[in-house]
Amino acid sequence: SEFVKEEFSRGMLRTKTVEDILTPLKDCFMLPSSAVLDFSTMSEIMQSGYTRVPIYEEESRSNIVEILYVKDLALVDPEDCTPMTTITKFYNHPLHFVFNDTKLDAMLEEFKKGNSHMAIVQKVNNEGEGDPFYEVLGLVTLEDVIEEVIKSEILDE
Ligand code: ADP
Repeated sequence: SEFVKEEFSRGMLRTKTVEDILTPLKDCFMLPSSAVLDFSTMSEIMQSGYTRVPIYEEESRSNIVEILYVKDLALVDPEDCTPMTTITKFYNHPLHFVFNDTKLDAMLEEFKKGNSHMAIVQKVNNEGEGDPFYEVLGLVTLEDVIEEVIKSEILDE
């Protein structure tokens, strides 16, 4: 029946998690906070085609500390070789973290509420011998969630 189909597709958003749809850390385009906004870095950013670039620290891609919006570069002159941190500290966009088991309907609500449409997905890793630690799995954006919403609506028909 219509009701069953609708419940099924809504159920997908209630049961699927951000971990199911994230862009894995290894595929994320990110830059270190030590980067300098010279011609080569700025071209690399433009060529990536992304609008937001997570910035990591201390040579560890899992230590994401800030986020650069490509639009922040509008007034940056590559000749000045501006340090990345000058720009990220100036704009200081909020960075959002979510746990891997966050359901897509909850994530959608978060994105609707907040002003940022990207979140860093982390999980508590307690598999090894040592103390549990936060492990970054990747990133998820509003676009990833919307894609699932659309898929579920197509199933609905
Ligand atoms: P953009 O505006 O940069 O195109 P979207 O939010 O529209 O980003 O997301 C499009 C896809 O790209 C999503 O699957 C998202 O997870 C992925 N994505 C967004 N930013 C990055 C990034 N810096 N590195 C890798 N993948 C990214």
